[in-house]
Amino acid sequence: MELVGFVHVSNTFNERLIARVYKRVNAYFKSKNLPIRLVYLGELELGPGYLVNIQTENGNVKGYPLEGVTELLHAKLIHTQEEIMEKRKTREEKNENKNNNVSKMNKIFGILNFPIVSRNPYLDFYEKFLGIQQDFHELKVMVLSIKPFEDNDEKVFEKRLFKGILHEVGHAFGLNHCQEDCVMNPPKVIGEWDLRRDDFCERCFVELKRNVKWKED
Ligand SMILES: [Zn+2]
Ligand SMILES: [Zn+2]
Repeated sequence: MELVGFVHVSNTFNERLIARVYKRVNAYFKSKNLPIRLVYLGELELGPGYLVNIQTENGNVKGYPLEGVTELLHAKLIHTQEEIMEKRKTREEKNENKNNNVSKMNKIFGILNFPIVSRNPYLDFYEKFLGIQQDFHELKVMVLSIKPFEDNDEKVFEKRLFKGILHEVGHAFGLNHCQEDCVMNPPKVIGEWDLRRDDFCERCFVELKRNVKWKED
């Protein structure tokens, strides 16, 4: 099983909503027979020092600098991997769970309540909107702000976020953007995102399935 660590970065509100989306994403993977699961790792504290003020056309915006957030998530992932190894070792010493499927976690997903900002001028608009996926060698860090998805209608909000998570996980498993009616097709405006179906197109799904390199033995 490919495990994807899942954390709240700092004081995220909308906890109930995020918990629902989290369950929905895992239910989706399960129903599609994809050996991928999100694993909730709790909250990751970001000190107030991380929050920066950014000048935009629409005035001052508070946000988290992407570089700081990805570094923290990277550290959290390494720490979690060490804990998993430690537990596995203890189990092996006690000769328990011999037939346990070996799962690996080399991906982590961070959900933020504030916009993500970056000094990187090459970061394109879509990625700012949908989130970021960054590689640290074989480790992958995904960051998604719920800010662009907010809506008074919780159902709409939830659906947007669900699709956003699938989009980032898709990238983490090697998918590129696509032109079809698919979560891998990034929108120019949020209205477009609402029209996208909440699933991968057939071609992206096949590629995703192929890229999940997991063997049952
Ligand atoms: Zn993308
Ligand atoms: Zn597609």
